[in-house]
Amino acid sequence: MKVRRLGVFGGTFDPIHSGHLVAAVSVQSELQLDYLIFVPTGNSWHKDPSPEASAQDRLAMVDLAIANHEGFTASSVDIERAGPTYTIDTLTDLQLQWEHDQPDTEALWFFVTGADALVDVPNWRDPSGILERARLVGVSRPGHLAPPADLLQGAFTLVEVATPDVASRQIRERVRTGQSIAELVPSAVAEYIERHRLYRDSGQGTA
Ligand code: ATP
Ligand code: MG
Repeated sequence: MKVRRLGVFGGTFDPIHSGHLVAAVSVQSELQLDYLIFVPTGNSWHKDPSPEASAQDRLAMVDLAIANHEGFTASSVDIERAGPTYTIDTLTDLQLQWEHDQPDTEALWFFVTGADALVDVPNWRDPSGILERARLVGVSRPGHLAPPADLLQGAFTLVEVATPDVASRQIRERVRTGQSIAELVPSAVAEYIERHRLYRDSGQGTA
């Protein structure tokens, strides 16, 4: 039986930026993933404030950013599910979908987070269920300490890579104050933000 190596990269992606993309490329090659699935959150319960751009805009920007990357795909499972996003549901839905679509292909699942998000996993809903469904992968992130070795009894893999020191909140702030984001997001994403007037004063897009 064939085995496919599948990564799941969840995030608010409000918006997606070069830090996400460098992390994704590194994880893809280090773990030899056949596919890396970007999954924008629906209503993000652990974010305060909740996402500024609509789920549709955030997904559209992910699609634009990954369009030319072999093996990168995006999923709307978290957007379509009502209510707040929990990673246990993300993995369950993606795995059901995979079994339905590819019944003859076994999959080995990885869930990818940055170092800052990884240390939160013990506080997420059903951490042991998450660990049963996927191997956790933490990517180093500038300004964030490496996760302690005993986190989740050490049940994670660390990918050490010098990702750009970029955060979505910084991009939203730069747009709001009229500064360039050209170096921080793919040009198609910058154009989308401009065209849809995202992250302006109201904090809401028009699309
Ligand atoms: P915000 O500032 O709104 O929190 P963010 O830049 O942290 O945005 P998220 O959508 O919260 O982006 O992140 C999605 C995932 O990507 C998280 O697991 C996060 O840790 C990881 N990530 C984001 N930026 C980087 C980066 N520069 N290097 C490594 N991982 C990153
Ligand atoms: Mg974040």
